[in-house]
Amino acid sequence: MTEAVFEPVRLRQIGETLRAYAARRGHLLAASEVAHTLERCLGVSPEESVTTAWTILFPHEALGRVPLSLAGREHFPALCWRNGHLEILASPGEGGVADGDMLYAPFPAGGARAPVAEAEDEGRPASAAIRAVLREHWPLFARIGAATVFINLLAVVSSIFAMQVYDRVVPNFSYPTLWALASGVLLAILFDLAFKFVRLGLMEATSKRIDEALSQYFFEKMMALKLDRRPAQASMLIGQIRDYESVKAFLTSSTLFAMADMPFILFFIAMVAVLGNYVALVPLCLLPVCIGVGLAVRKPLARLQNRQVEENALRQGVMIEAVSGAESLKATGAEWRFGALWQRLTRDLADNGERMRKLSSQAQYISGAFQQLAYVLVLVVGVFRIEAGELTTGGLIACSILAQRAMGSTIQLTGILVQWQHARHALHVLDRLLSRPGDDGQRAGSTVEPHDLVLEDVHYAYEEGQESILAVPSLRIPAGQRIAVLGRNGSGKSTLLRLMAGLGTPAQGVVRIGGLDLQVCRLGWLRQTVGFLPQEVRLFGGTLRENLTLGLDQPSEERLREALRATGLDRFAARLPQGLDTQIREGGVGLSGGQKQLIGITRLVLQQPKIWLLDEPSASLDRESEQLVQTLLKALPPDVTVIFTTHRMGWVELSQRTLVVDDGRIRADVPTQQVRSQPPAQPGRRIAGEGQA
Ligand code: ATP
Ligand code: MG
Repeated sequence: MTEAVFEPVRLRQIGETLRAYAARRGHLLAASEVAHTLERCLGVSPEESVTTAWTILFPHEALGRVPLSLAGREHFPALCWRNGHLEILASPGEGGVADGDMLYAPFPAGGARAPVAEAEDEGRPASAAIRAVLREHWPLFARIGAATVFINLLAVVSSIFAMQVYDRVVPNFSYPTLWALASGVLLAILFDLAFKFVRLGLMEATSKRIDEALSQYFFEKMMALKLDRRPAQASMLIGQIRDYESVKAFLTSSTLFAMADMPFILFFIAMVAVLGNYVALVPLCLLPVCIGVGLAVRKPLARLQNRQVEENALRQGVMIEAVSGAESLKATGAEWRFGALWQRLTRDLADNGERMRKLSSQAQYISGAFQQLAYVLVLVVGVFRIEAGELTTGGLIACSILAQRAMGSTIQLTGILVQWQHARHALHVLDRLLSRPGDDGQRAGSTVEPHDLVLEDVHYAYEEGQESILAVPSLRIPAGQRIAVLGRNGSGKSTLLRLMAGLGTPAQGVVRIGGLDLQVCRLGWLRQTVGFLPQEVRLFGGTLRENLTLGLDQPSEERLREALRATGLDRFAARLPQGLDTQIREGGVGLSGGQKQLIGITRLVLQQPKIWLLDEPSASLDRESEQLVQTLLKALPPDVTVIFTTHRMGWVELSQRTLVVDDGRIRADVPTQQVRSQPPAQPGRRIAGEGQA
């Protein structure tokens, strides 16, 4: 078996299975990535190769060996070796596996996460995730349903009690009957209370679990979204996360209680029919009217509610923007504009809220009126039945109690309909946000390549419908090349680098590294392979150490010191009161531009990417730091690609090849020696070059 696994065919089969398995766990994995990793892991046994490869690909989800006899639901889907073939086992009951077989399954981390990932649909990931979670928790729902049945049955007891008291006790004041009945009802009330407590506990447990599973899932999905697939403004994103909240609220709030009560409307009406025959016609006729009122206000109310959520998010966004950009706002004297916007949004919000409250109150009043009407009509019809000798006074009392219950539940229906409309809209928005293009398998047969960077017919625009800011018909950068990108301000250098880093989605064409399309490759791999130093380094709130190492495999103290020394950041760190543990404010407020840039470069040194993309690395460095960084770049291994933009001729010397960008087009692509003899940044003038791929 050991030899068999090393045959190319077998290797491909194993790779394909691993890819399929990763997909079921919600990870996108490219064929060449699997193949490459597997080749690096050819160990003593195929089992070992597979588990090691998996661990390299997904360090946070190590595969463990689990005997089938001990495997629980949380271990599935699992991997399993059967007759020397690697297979995916979807459930413990699947045929063909013996009890002694070993499974390979990720150690369960967050309980309900696996089923969420497993059920991910192509087009509607959010809906699929919710369905999966609901399916996972159906036993809890069944128990809640059972408790509801008992609670509603016990509700009938009080009406029967009233009937017996009027019919049996009152006519001849038979106290023994009264006591017997009263104690029976008391018992029923106690049971009712107990069941309600149990149901409450179940509901809380269910909502907590659903919330945990879904929150985790949505948070991860949001984080995984490519930057420019996110809505343009933070406020919109916040709004859409709110949408999630409203979907969740629908699934977990008291709405579910109310929903469980719905089938009992018919049960109560049936009871009325049993006791009072025609009397049941009253609630039966008024029921559709109440539902009609609910349906009528459902759409306008949901529309208002959606608007409320959107405007709220917008207002919050204005606040965030105003606070985070306070400095430049004040500098440009634009405070008044934000003030006016804030005021307008607040007024709109209040107006909208008023309309919403009015509409829902009106609906409630109308339903309430129908409830009263039902009460009166039940009594009116009941009198005729009593005259006909078909109904007793007690029976009529029982009928009116039951009819009231039925109508009460009907009124709740209005609320449910409105909430459902709102949740459906939110779900739709989430589905749209989270659906990403799937791995189309186009690279199924691709081979392992070195980290060549290739742009094919790429067009890019920051906004949809905009004319493309950058157009690159074809560009190939073999692994290990050092490239300078020159051009005037606003010519598109930063945009080009952002695209190469996979931070932008081209409107057309593909950017590949080692044959992998950056749009569909695994983000973890991309972050490892490509290091990007933005033109303006932004830091986040946390210690200096965290800012340097977050997202990287925890580097040792030794390596950290070495990296600091390489960029000269060690002198800066030594001056800080708490050294590396000094708190840095969000955005790096309080640090100089050069310091931020050095922190960014040190991060890259620690990351050791295969491709370095540096956007004006020298822009705010002093002479000494600049020299250090240049020395550092020169000392990089020969297979590491370095691409940098610069306005300084001194830097161009570091490169072998120069790209001149102007107006979003690559106007020249020449060996650097040629640039030294000719001034580069002359738009429109093509310097004859040989580097173009
Ligand atoms: P500089 O030398 O000043 O850094 P650059 O060559 O890096 O300039 P880019 O930042 O790539 O220029 O910008 C290219 C074009 O794209 C410019 O016209 C700019 O206005 C536009 N642009 C840049 N960033 C955005 C953005 N986030 N949204 C919309 N347009 C943008
Ligand atoms: Mg730039």
